[in-house]
Amino acid sequence: MATPRRPIIAGNWKMFKTTQEATAFVEALWQKVQSRATAELPEIVVCPPFTALSTVKQQVEKLGAPFIVAAQTMESRDNGAYTGEISPLMLADLGIRWVVLGHSERRQYFNETDETVTAKTLAALKHGMTPIVCVGEELQERENGLTDAVIEQQIRAVCSQLQTSDLPKIVIAYEPVWAIGTGKVCEAAEANRVCALIRHFVGEYGPAEQTRILYGGSVKADNTQALMSQSDIDGGLVGGASLEAESFFGIIQHASPVTA
Ligand code: PEP
Repeated sequence: MATPRRPIIAGNWKMFKTTQEATAFVEALWQKVQSRATAELPEIVVCPPFTALSTVKQQVEKLGAPFIVAAQTMESRDNGAYTGEISPLMLADLGIRWVVLGHSERRQYFNETDETVTAKTLAALKHGMTPIVCVGEELQERENGLTDAVIEQQIRAVCSQLQTSDLPKIVIAYEPVWAIGTGKVCEAAEANRVCALIRHFVGEYGPAEQTRILYGGSVKADNTQALMSQSDIDGGLVGGASLEAESFFGIIQHASPVTA
């Protein structure tokens, strides 16, 4: 029998939180999470801004908290004259093993393309990191009936360049752009349909059963269970509701393997 996919709840803090705010958050979340056995919890990922990565990583280790600390983006090259960029080697130096790639805000405001997202995904895998690769259609694309074609292109661009053995190692986040930060959550059945479609496309390149596929876009405690109980949704990538320990923990509780 196939191993069940462990759910993941990842909090993307975006450009929020000083180191002091970040450590206060981790402490508050740890207070709440401690009461739960690890087996009852999803994998919990926090994605601080670069400036807080090292502090949060050290704090998590000191507390013994079961939190994965991830970067929100990175450069694909190991080093070079790329002012302001952060490389996989630099993240590895801080002990960071997970990274979000191709978030729609990176695609929209920083000109990231399927090509750059693919290069970054390959770089992450080369360095033994787990990439959370974000895909998703814009509102106009959905309204024009282009959702499936957009998703297909974004998934094929990355998966066609990977080794078959890499497919179970990547995490994919389906984030309809119109649902991010808008309060408009994609209806659970439709989100599941697209996640199943993603699994189908991944499956054309190798085994897709163990690839974890998250939904992101206005996830809150009160819509988590409906989303996470779907067959092909293996967790959530959370923006706004991940900024407060209380609301993030509410989502974690509803995504735990025992209640899902
Ligand atoms: C995100 O930033 O990836 C996101 C899904 O944001 P929000 O939860 O605020 O919609």
